[in-house]
Amino acid sequence: MHKTTAGPEAQNRPQSNKKTFAIAVFDGDGIGPEIMRPTLDILGEISASSSSFCLQFQPLPAGAGHYRDHAVALPHSSLDAARDADAILLSAMGLPDIRYPDGTEIAPQIELRFALELFAGVRPVFLMPGQGSPLRIADTGGVDFVIIRESTEGLFASHGKGEVIRDEEARETLVITRRVSEKLFDFAFRLARQRKENGKGPGRVHCVDKANVFQAFAFFRKIFQERAALNPDIEAQCAYVDAAALWMVQRPQMFDVIVTENMFGDILSDLGAGIMGSLGLAPSADIGADHAVFQPCHGSAPDIAGRNIANPLAMILSASMMLDWLGREHEMEDMLTAGRRLHEAVNSVLSSGSCLTPDIGGTASTNGVAEAVLEAYRNGAQA
Ligand code: ATP
Repeated sequence: MHKTTAGPEAQNRPQSNKKTFAIAVFDGDGIGPEIMRPTLDILGEISASSSSFCLQFQPLPAGAGHYRDHAVALPHSSLDAARDADAILLSAMGLPDIRYPDGTEIAPQIELRFALELFAGVRPVFLMPGQGSPLRIADTGGVDFVIIRESTEGLFASHGKGEVIRDEEARETLVITRRVSEKLFDFAFRLARQRKENGKGPGRVHCVDKANVFQAFAFFRKIFQERAALNPDIEAQCAYVDAAALWMVQRPQMFDVIVTENMFGDILSDLGAGIMGSLGLAPSADIGADHAVFQPCHGSAPDIAGRNIANPLAMILSASMMLDWLGREHEMEDMLTAGRRLHEAVNSVLSSGSCLTPDIGGTASTNGVAEAVLEAYRNGAQA
């Protein structure tokens, strides 16, 4: 456990009768600090008002700005502290103008996924009734599914290892292993079961691949079918990634849980964010056996940084996923309730439509939206 240096003293002070959770905080680059600050304020109030748990925030340096100033993107001390924390909250890292000598962007969030073996990237896609979407769907309230993006191998296993040969040819290698795939599919079946129990889905998993063209994906699909046989209560379906992209747009209601390779998941989760109306609404969690990182799907959005117009909702929803995960891991009903209420508070702000940032058609500021969520949370907590 680490001593905190962030947030109001009273919110962070551990109380003897409460269980304390250390939260590693990376506020990163671009809009990162702008969306992290109000999110910590909300979490601070939730923590202060809880009788059973206390969140202690520990800010940690990393990112493109840190690389520019110190020539290191993810200091060992930050990685070690993140490893020791109970959960990790991350906003966004990377800036297009600051790159490694090979031209790739600074991305400590990818390093964290590999270092902490966060194999399951959970990317929910949902539409509240009344929430704007580029899709013309009569009942948008019916869209509610989760993409699980494998996050430690696939094509991203080649990150930092690709080669360009004599300026004539380039190669990157995709990796699929049985060890990770089995864990990934088991995670997907568990999540589908959990959603079914909570009335959120029919209990269906789609494996999305390109098994008709690549051996690696035929192997991926074979392992999926083996694990499906061990989970007969959950419907198992397979789809090629191109068809899945089409169906996500034409009939997204058919999906419950989608499980896919890293690169396909990277692309499909942005498509999911597009369906939701903005990247600024799409939360995510990267989960492993012992650690988890919660961060919005979007990047550092340097084009709107410093203007107090970034949408904080993806960050706040990621914080709600963190409460849900910690609540389940530690069997703390109070925390599960807080996570659910925070999600409902975001839903009510979205549904009312009166306090939205410009990316989803409003004129409100980052801080204004975060305050509206906190107000809705307080009202919900009293109800
Ligand atoms: P990365 O590759 O690091 O994920 P990216 O290249 O996909 O990043 P983003 O930084 O996510 O790019 O930005 C893509 C677009 O979405 C930009 O126009 C940005 O302004 C917008 N955007 C991203 N996040 C938000 C947000 N929270 N609120 C409003 N607009 C956002």
